Amino acid sequence: MPQFIVNTQVQSNGDHEVHNKTTGCSYMPAAANQKDLGIHTSCHGAVTEAKRTYNQSNGCYHCCNACHTQ
Ligand SMILES: [Zn+2]
Repeated sequence: MPQFIVNTQVQSNGDHEVHNKTTGCSYMPAAANQKDLGIHTSCHGAVTEAKRTYNQSNGCYHCCNACHTQ
């Protein structure tokens, strides 16, 4: 199962983006800006976990498209 991280740095739209660390992503934040979300069967569980820390968390358009919302 894939491991996910959330960017500790906020995007310009207020989102904290969730990325799939196992598949990798060209938009992966620097290691210092990654908060580990653990292992999840899908990005949905990872975004739920991220929202415990950052209320406005969102799946990355590129690696977590199924969890990306506008
Ligand atoms: Zn990504």
